[in-house]
Amino acid sequence: MLKRRVSKRIMIGKVAVGGGAPITVQSMTKTDTRDARATIDQIRELEEYGCEIIRCAVPDLEAAQALAAIKKGIHIPLVADIHFDYRLALEALAAGVDCLRLNPGNISDPDKVGAVVRAAKERSVPIRIGVNFGSLPKDLDPKLTLPQQMAEAAMRHIRILEDLDFDLIKVSLKAFDVNTTVQAYQEIAGRMPYPLHIGITESGTTRRGMIRSSVGIGILLHEGLGDTLRVSLTTHPREEVFTAWEILKSLDLREHGPKLVSCPTCGRTEVDIFSIANAIEESLVKVDKPIKVAVMGCIVNGPGEARDADVGVACGKGRGIIFCKGQQLRTVDEKDIVSELMKEIEKL
Ligand code: SF4
Repeated sequence: MLKRRVSKRIMIGKVAVGGGAPITVQSMTKTDTRDARATIDQIRELEEYGCEIIRCAVPDLEAAQALAAIKKGIHIPLVADIHFDYRLALEALAAGVDCLRLNPGNISDPDKVGAVVRAAKERSVPIRIGVNFGSLPKDLDPKLTLPQQMAEAAMRHIRILEDLDFDLIKVSLKAFDVNTTVQAYQEIAGRMPYPLHIGITESGTTRRGMIRSSVGIGILLHEGLGDTLRVSLTTHPREEVFTAWEILKSLDLREHGPKLVSCPTCGRTEVDIFSIANAIEESLVKVDKPIKVAVMGCIVNGPGEARDADVGVACGKGRGIIFCKGQQLRTVDEKDIVSELMKEIEKL
């Protein structure tokens, strides 16, 4: 098991973050928050994919007012993403959100910061400080490296909250560049006790973004850094949730639904493994049991992997041998492999 950084535990609604709690999967809606119905529908879909905390952008008062209806229509904690305008934060808190993403240093009037922090404290609502590489303050010491500047910017926001006797804090330091992001989190990890929300920001379109996020988040998690995570992709947020879970499962940090082992195929393959593996992956989307399924192309590695999985198939010429829990069950025609595997998975 990977050793994790010790952090203070906070509660985002009913979900614990930090202090050894399971690392949670977050996403952000891509609907217009003012359209409560569309936003609820998207969140409900993300819940089915395993999203555990959801964030909505709050660009104006109408969006802040929609949060109450959104909150009523969903089952997971709701985070309001607010920049600059303290009135939106107060409105979001009144609407019952479970967390604010807000940088107090970006609100110029200390009285207004005080009003938001008091309202959050009364409701035990945490605040996530989110420093992004693209919006660093201009007056940071130029002698500091970029990761050091990001950490210093976060520390300024943290000090503002601590001076107001507020410690329900979560921190993120995100950049597009993986090395910068990793170093920024390393930089801040020992300087404060609060949980870390990790991610690679604006990581790109589906394929490139999944890889960039997996590398960056994977390194951080392997170093024990990260209490909750969001994958940012330029695509539907269900892909963000899917990727986040696959990262956590790859490092054995969480269990969530099946693991699919499939061979890459090669010159020995005599069935259409691409179609079989894709059909199985599709069918497994709604399966929530943490089982291992193997789809293998030939007898070289096939029987070993298929035996090791909960359910597996090792294929030969136009046929496949079905395995369940290490036992060889039967040989089936290629056209029946998907349905026969699914039958065994359902029995589990
Ligand atoms: Fe090739 Fe067989 Fe390995 Fe698949 S399991 S990649 S078919 S050798």
